[in-house]
Amino acid sequence: MFYNSENEPEYLLYVSFPEKNDHILSDISNILLLSLFFIFIIIIAFSGSLYQLIKQKKISEIKTDFINNMTHEFKTPIATINLALDSIKNPKIINDKDKVLRYIGMIRDENKRMHTQVENVLRISRLEKNQLEISKEIVDIHDTIDDAINHVSLLVTSKNGDISTHFEAITSEISGNEFHLTNVIVNILENAIKYSGDSPNIDVYTESTNKFFIFKIKDEGIGMSKSAQKMVFDKFYREQKGNIHDVKGHGLGLAYVKEIVEKHHGTVFVESEKGEGSIFTVKLPLI
Ligand code: ADP
Repeated sequence: MFYNSENEPEYLLYVSFPEKNDHILSDISNILLLSLFFIFIIIIAFSGSLYQLIKQKKISEIKTDFINNMTHEFKTPIATINLALDSIKNPKIINDKDKVLRYIGMIRDENKRMHTQVENVLRISRLEKNQLEISKEIVDIHDTIDDAINHVSLLVTSKNGDISTHFEAITSEISGNEFHLTNVIVNILENAIKYSGDSPNIDVYTESTNKFFIFKIKDEGIGMSKSAQKMVFDKFYREQKGNIHDVKGHGLGLAYVKEIVEKHHGTVFVESEKGEGSIFTVKLPLI
């Protein structure tokens, strides 16, 4: 300002804006908040889709395992039926009534096995769609447990195992469906046998409180990890991954157990230690 004769400024004017930052900030604050909000939404959307992706991958792995297991379990009966049919067609055998009857028996047994497999899968999907009607009557659950133990007794003896009962419940009448409750107990017992290796040693305890009937099925088998314990009641979950056939299964048994117990307004949970064994506890309301 005011240049002198040498063309140099005589005065200098300084301007300062003490509230410049505040002013700028208040100007862009709206847009800043909005961008932060959108960044937040993008992060949530991204992690959501990542989570879904991982979930889908797991489901597809589980499906492959399931299909492999199913195929394997169908392959044996189909092969046996084929062999039996070929044998019956043999002119030497077709006239031998006894042999034909024996082969027909084999075909019927294998057919029954496949039917049971399909029934297992259908039962769980019917349960899921709430199409399974559960009629309830008065059931003495001690009798149901005895009945279930009878079902698996051959399996236990063939493995040199033992099931002991410790019935300590004073009242044991509940309102329930005998057929499904027997299946529930058989499923837990079968698992205790399957996952126990040689000579399974199983104990069944019962007790009653004012409102509940409680039974525990304890095995001394392979047990399971803490993370497995959280998932065993999920559909298709199996601790052993892949196409493993030394211990057969589809991972549906315990999902069915949970559905049925919940339909009886009860609860089921597991306590287990890897290598030590497992205890499955079922709590059902008394009448
Ligand atoms: P599966 O047909 O595989 O036996 P389940 O639903 O009955 O399916 O069981 C799910 C998984 O829980 C099994 O694959 C197994 O890993 C684990 N499991 C169930 N019962 C026992 C048990 N008594 N001891 C150890 N692991 C068990």
